[in-house]
Amino acid sequence: MIIKKSPEEIDKMAAAGAILVRTLRLLESKVREGVTTAELDEAAEKFIRSQGATPAFKGYRGFPGSICTSPNSMVVHGIPGPYRLGRGDLISIDVGVVLDGWVADAARTFPVGPVSPVAHRLLDTTQASLFAAVEACRPGNRLGDVSHAVQERVEADGLSVVRSLVGHGIGRSMHEDPQVPNFGEPGRGPLLEEGMVLAVEPMVNAGRHMVRMGDDGWAIFSQDGSLAAHFEFTIAVTADGPRVLTPWHEGDGREGAAGTR
Ligand code: MG
Repeated sequence: MIIKKSPEEIDKMAAAGAILVRTLRLLESKVREGVTTAELDEAAEKFIRSQGATPAFKGYRGFPGSICTSPNSMVVHGIPGPYRLGRGDLISIDVGVVLDGWVADAARTFPVGPVSPVAHRLLDTTQASLFAAVEACRPGNRLGDVSHAVQERVEADGLSVVRSLVGHGIGRSMHEDPQVPNFGEPGRGPLLEEGMVLAVEPMVNAGRHMVRMGDDGWAIFSQDGSLAAHFEFTIAVTADGPRVLTPWHEGDGREGAAGTR
C-alpha cells in the first residue's frame, strides 16, 4: 500500500531533507585524499545530531554506521571504516536523516581529486538519469515512466543500471511501498498521485549490471569490478509537479534548471 502524504507532512520531510543536504555538503568539503570513511561517518553523525535529528541508517538492521560510504567498484551499503580515500577514487555517500519522525534519504558520488574520463562520464550520466527521473515524478504518470527515464538515459551512454537493487517509497519509514526499479516500461506500474514520496536512486555501473555482495554481508560491488556511481533524491509528487526534498542545486527538479557538476 502506498501511503500518501499531506502538503504539511511533505514540508516536514523537506525539513529533514534540508538537514540531509547540509550534511552532504559538509561531507563534500571533507572528501580529499587521505581521509578515512570512518572520519566522514563521525562528522556526519555529529552534524546530524547537532541539528536535533538522527541518522536513519545507524542501527538499521544492525548497520553500524550513520552513513554508507562506497568507494570505486562498491555500488552501495559500504560500512565506514579505515579505508583511506585515494587520489582518483570515486566515493559514493548515502545519508538518511530522521527529523520529528519523518525520513529523508539521498546520495551522491564525489570524485577525489582528478578522476578518469570514464569516471567523469559515469558521474555525469548517473546524475542526469536522476534528473530525468525527477521530471517523470508527476501526477498522472506511472511508476514505469520514472524507471524507464533512468534506464533510457543510462543505457544511451553505454552504461548499466543495477537491477537487483531498487529505490523505494519513503515517509515515516525509510522503506515504504512502492519499490522503484531503475529499469522498466513506460506507462506501466502504479499511477503516480499527489502526495506520494519516492526515494529514486540510480545505481549505475560503468561495466555490466550484475553485482555481488562483499564478505561483510553489507557492501555490494559491481561483479566485474567496474566503477559504480549512486545518486539519490527524495522526491514528492505534488499537484505542481515534482518537488525534490533533498535539492542539491537551486531549482533541482524544475525543467531547465538541472545543472551538473
Ligand atoms: Mg534509498
